[in-house]
Amino acid sequence: MVARIPAPQEYVGVFLFFGLFGALAFRLAQAQVARDPSLSAWLWIAAAAFAGYVVSDFVSGLVHWTFDTWGSNDSFIVGKAFIHHFRMHHFDPKDITRHGFVATNGNNCLATLPALAAALFIPLEAPWASAAVAFVVSLCLGVFMTNQFHKWAHADAVGPFVAFLQASGLALGREHHDIHHRAPFDTHYCITTGWLNRPLMAIGFFRGMERLISRITGAVPRRDDLRDPER
Ligand SMILES: [Zn+2]
Ligand SMILES: [Zn+2]
Repeated sequence: MVARIPAPQEYVGVFLFFGLFGALAFRLAQAQVARDPSLSAWLWIAAAAFAGYVVSDFVSGLVHWTFDTWGSNDSFIVGKAFIHHFRMHHFDPKDITRHGFVATNGNNCLATLPALAAALFIPLEAPWASAAVAFVVSLCLGVFMTNQFHKWAHADAVGPFVAFLQASGLALGREHHDIHHRAPFDTHYCITTGWLNRPLMAIGFFRGMERLISRITGAVPRRDDLRDPER
């Protein structure tokens, strides 16, 4: 299969992501230095950033589970736009490694833009504001990196820095993600860092959600799962 050509809006998404991310990080640092540069204040900001990064892993799992579990390639709008790509990935896990930077990350960048733009309006004079901005920025960074981390988890070889990220757990580990790629592809949905896979499995989160949704809507999870997604 040939590498996917990104749509123009994906280039715009990457450009705007870096612009807004840089502007927010600069604004946050500038306001914090002016107001309270103490170590404890920076530790609160670091804690908020950590929380944002954890939440990005949860978001990756929730989105991945949704498109792996419900609907089909024929579903209205989301079928071709999203579900097809997620189901296809189970049949051809190496395809993602043939995508360039923008094709890999453009759509996730676009998804972060509303949150990054909204964070520009957080009044930085408020005592809680820096932590709130740090949370949003870190959450968006995690969302942005999710497909890149996922791509690296499937790569035949990675550089030393990426190997460090994977070994330290800051990026999705290769063997950890391999667990998702065993049929019926119904565990380890989190693909940013994978930190939440074991806790969510321990509390039966996704199976519980499936029972709840099936009870409410009558839909059957993974009804379409083993169908060839090219058909
Ligand atoms: Zn999957
Ligand atoms: Zn994968």
